[in-house]
Amino acid sequence: MTTFQIENQCPQCGAPANLEETDRLFACPFCRVTSLLLTRDYFRYVLPARNPVGKDLVYVPYWRFKGILLFSLPAGIEYKFIDVSHCATDASPIPATLGLRSQALKLKFVTPEMPGRFVRLARSFDDTLAAFNRRFSQALPRPILHCAHLGESMSLMYSPFYATDQLYDAVLDRPVTAAGGGFPDTGLAGGRPDWGVRFVAALCPACGWDLEGARNTLAMFCRNCQSAWYPAGEALAQVESACLEDTVEAGIYFPFWQITCDLSAIGLKSYADLARIANLPNVVDRTAGLREFRFWTPAFKIRAQVFMRLAESLTLLQAQDRVAPMLPPGPHHPVTLPVEEACESLKVVLAAFFKPRRVLPEMLPALTIRPMQHTLTYLPFIEDQHDFIQPQTRLAINKNLLSLSRSL
Ligand SMILES: [Zn+2]
Ligand SMILES: [Zn+2]
Repeated sequence: MTTFQIENQCPQCGAPANLEETDRLFACPFCRVTSLLLTRDYFRYVLPARNPVGKDLVYVPYWRFKGILLFSLPAGIEYKFIDVSHCATDASPIPATLGLRSQALKLKFVTPEMPGRFVRLARSFDDTLAAFNRRFSQALPRPILHCAHLGESMSLMYSPFYATDQLYDAVLDRPVTAAGGGFPDTGLAGGRPDWGVRFVAALCPACGWDLEGARNTLAMFCRNCQSAWYPAGEALAQVESACLEDTVEAGIYFPFWQITCDLSAIGLKSYADLARIANLPNVVDRTAGLREFRFWTPAFKIRAQVFMRLAESLTLLQAQDRVAPMLPPGPHHPVTLPVEEACESLKVVLAAFFKPRRVLPEMLPALTIRPMQHTLTYLPFIEDQHDFIQPQTRLAINKNLLSLSRSL
């Protein structure tokens, strides 16, 4: 499975910095300043040219997606893990995919000063993803009620080309075409890249205290003013956080998203509505029944089957009254699944418990789930030999599946 290394410099002292693709916090071993990596949308990388000197390089954009495609079918959910790239412009004979060659290469972040022509995008990420959905769902039985994705990596990769009497792939320094074919006439318009990664010192925007977090986490804590922070474009925004106050000594706290949505179209507003819609066997008392319905999903990367099992179980539990607004008091697992990605899965979660199932083919495609609010929520888990176990709910996370899911 592909995970890229990125060559960069410390924004404070200029010392060389080697980053992993999943890094969001960089602690410089030289100047000891910790910086956050922020982007207004996708991270953008360039693949290195083998012999760049004296060449007019043209950088062609490729969308890259690594993650899971989820397909809601009448009989259940189908999962497909994919690690793919696709050219974001149409310019034959430029190759349609990056292939596997980028695996061993050290990438760099795109910077506004980079020389070369950066080709403009002709296709959005959503269009490209729709094409992946079509391609990877071909073998599935029809009807497909809904497609969604759980992304681990979504980025733009710029691969360099140049032309002499023929078109060359500058990464391999090898011709793409037979002699006599230079650059295609269309599809390669572009200019300077209008993008750069933004490095921000990892300090609490409210009080200036050092923020706490693992290198690959999306959420950071300030223990001074007890706040949690989450990237919102090129800045940090405060995120509501809650934690289950437990009476047992916790091993580790795992993060989940509680997401409130407008589901008035199907009459799902409260716990009582959920009990009816999901045909829950347990009796919901009057007070609990009035509780606002929320989706619950993991906020960390885990195998898709485990993700769906946890999301469905916790959503059916509606345990929001058991958590209090606070940060996790002990060690905690990093937040590695963006809330936007969690929102992507909500229709699939809904389809997993919705009854009667026969109405799904009509109901699901027409339904729009509009997320309105989210809360980062921590639950304590106790570690045993094979699993992390949540004592109040008896939910378990297999340790092997968790360590494997560093690359999903
Ligand atoms: Zn430094
Ligand atoms: Zn603070």
